[in-house]
Order: sequence, then C-alpha cells, then structure tokens
Amino acid sequence: MKHIDEYRDGELIRPLVAELRQSLTRPVRLMEVCGTHTMAIFRSGIRSILPEAMEIVSGPGCPVCVTSASHMDAFIAMAEIPGVRVAIFGDLFRVPGSSGSLANAAARGAQVEVVYSPMDALELATRHPAELVVFLGVGFETTTPGIAATILAAAKDAVDNFCVFSTQKVIPGPLEALMQDPDLNINALLCPGHVSAIIGAGAYQPFADRGLACVVAGFEPADLLNGLIMLARQIAEGRPKVENLYPRVVSWEGNGRARAMVEEIFEPVDTEWRGLGFIERSGLAIRDKYGRYDALKRLDITIPASAEPKGCLCGEILKGKTIPPHCPLFGSRCTPANPVGPCMVSSEGTCAAYHKYGQET
Ligand code: SF4
Repeated sequence: MKHIDEYRDGELIRPLVAELRQSLTRPVRLMEVCGTHTMAIFRSGIRSILPEAMEIVSGPGCPVCVTSASHMDAFIAMAEIPGVRVAIFGDLFRVPGSSGSLANAAARGAQVEVVYSPMDALELATRHPAELVVFLGVGFETTTPGIAATILAAAKDAVDNFCVFSTQKVIPGPLEALMQDPDLNINALLCPGHVSAIIGAGAYQPFADRGLACVVAGFEPADLLNGLIMLARQIAEGRPKVENLYPRVVSWEGNGRARAMVEEIFEPVDTEWRGLGFIERSGLAIRDKYGRYDALKRLDITIPASAEPKGCLCGEILKGKTIPPHCPLFGSRCTPANPVGPCMVSSEGTCAAYHKYGQET
C-alpha cells in the first residue's frame, strides 16, 4: 500500500492536471455525493484548476445539511423535556430550527452533550442513571453500524435509560430521485468513499446501467484528480461503468457484517430530506424488537411540519440546482458565526466550504 503522502505529492499530482485536460473531450457535469468530498475538493484547490468543460456540483451528501427543519425542531423539543439529556455530534449544535438551535436550548437549561460516538452516549447514560440519555442519530450508512452496535451493547448490559432518535438515512434513494430530474443534467457521479465502504461500489451499478459514469474515490488530491480523469474518460469513450478507485477502503460488495448488524436493529422507512421532501424507504427506524431503545416510542414527541429558514437556499444547493454565492444571504446575513441554514453550519456543508475557501459565481 502507498504511503498517504504519495497521494499529496505535488510532483506526482502536476501531471494528473495535464492528464485531466487531455481526457476531457466532452463536457462533464458531475455531482459529488459526500460532504467530505465537498471539503476535500475545495481544500485541495482542485476547483481552481478545473477545465471549463468540467463542472462539479454538490449533492445531498452532508448528513447534518439534509436533516429537515422538522427533525431539528423535534430534536430541540426533545432536549427540553425535563429528565432528558441529549447526546449529539458537534455539527448539530448550532443548526437553526424554526426558533433557535440546540445551542439556544442548552443556554435555556436543556442538557445537551457533544459526544464523539454513540458508545460515548451509552457511557453517559451509565453516568446519569436518573436521566434518559437520547442519542440523536443523524447520518448515513457510515455511522449506522456504530449506532446498531451501541443498541446491541445497551441491550446486552440491560441499560434502560438510553435510547436513540433515529433520523439515519441511506444514500441511494435520494440519488435515484435526483438522477431522474432532467433539468439537473448530471452525467457523472463522484461516489462517496465512506458510505461505499459499507454499501460497496456495486451499489452504483444501477446508475451506470442508466448511463451515468461512476467512480468511487478517496479524499486525497491524487485520489480526487484520478477520479475526475476516470470520469472524463468514461464519458469520452461513451462507456459508463462503475470504477473503484478506493480499493484500500472500499470493496465491490461492501461490509456484509456491518450491514447484517444494521439489518438486525433497523428497518427502512420513508423519511424527509431537506430540499428533497419525503423519499420512500430512504430512512432507518428502529425495529419493534428493540423499541425500548427508540426515543420516539419512549417519549411523547410528534415531528412538526416546519418550514425552512426564510430566504435560505440549502434545499436547492443539496439538489445541485444552485451554488452558495447565488444565495442572497450568503456572506451577509448568513456567515459561519451567524448561520441561517445548516449548509453554513456543518463542517461538511457546501456553504461553509465556499465561505472558507473562496467563492465562485
Ligand atoms: S448561505 Fe446560508 S442562507 Fe444561503 S443557502 Fe447557505 S446556509 Fe442557507
């Protein structure tokens, strides 16, 4: 296996830029479907060297960003129930709901703890036996196995004051929905690295069968440039297929053991995505067998029908229909210090990336 520095070495990368230009004989409009790719592409400066015939748009790959305003409001309502302590990944803390964020709820006295893993939340439950600790599950296929393992551990140790509010989602559903939109005009997918470690590169075959060039890529500059070259070549040759450029992490089949554990705990449900609305079987709910660990069954919470923040274009950005500098609030009323929408809060959000690394019009 190569040392990671080889994927960043300028001497090795410069020829790849020339190769990308040579490979691009037809226009490519590609969607990157992973928040970590969004950031990595900006951080590496790849956008600044892109040939004009290649356009990159972000898709629905940031889990915090695609969490609906309705779910955010339900999270905040849950955090304010006396005797409840919510455990969250840090990015969620400042995401605005209809009237404030979890950070505002914490300032009013709600118990909100930032954790690094669902197991940390379970540990929190053992330290606070008089409270109900609720882990807010916001993520894709990458984080779901960890939550499933935590629920199994809670069941094994009979920890009764721990549960999960699952808004976990799966990636193929929204991709399917987006690729049916003729206005979007996407002809290539830079497929996610982390999610694919679980679902496998083979999961994108149906997209290739429908004419989309697909490459699973890692996150280093050489990974990304090679991925773009492979996509450009597939389109130039008119032979769309799935290529796996990240075999050091991703196999064709994915991680069967992780998927079996997820299958034991979760079942597919229709769920709401910010900007995309409800998508059939694109969410994961906790099975009745493990209902003791389902926050929605333990607590009297209804999910409201909340509106998106006024003027915010996150929904359109998550569909690849616009870019942050076209939002009238970008950089004025909406900044990382004072975010209006989740795409400016999340460390994987497209608005945060444009704000940090520069704007394009
Ligand atoms: S700049 Fe702010 S308001 Fe505009 S789309 Fe992004 S997050 Fe929403």
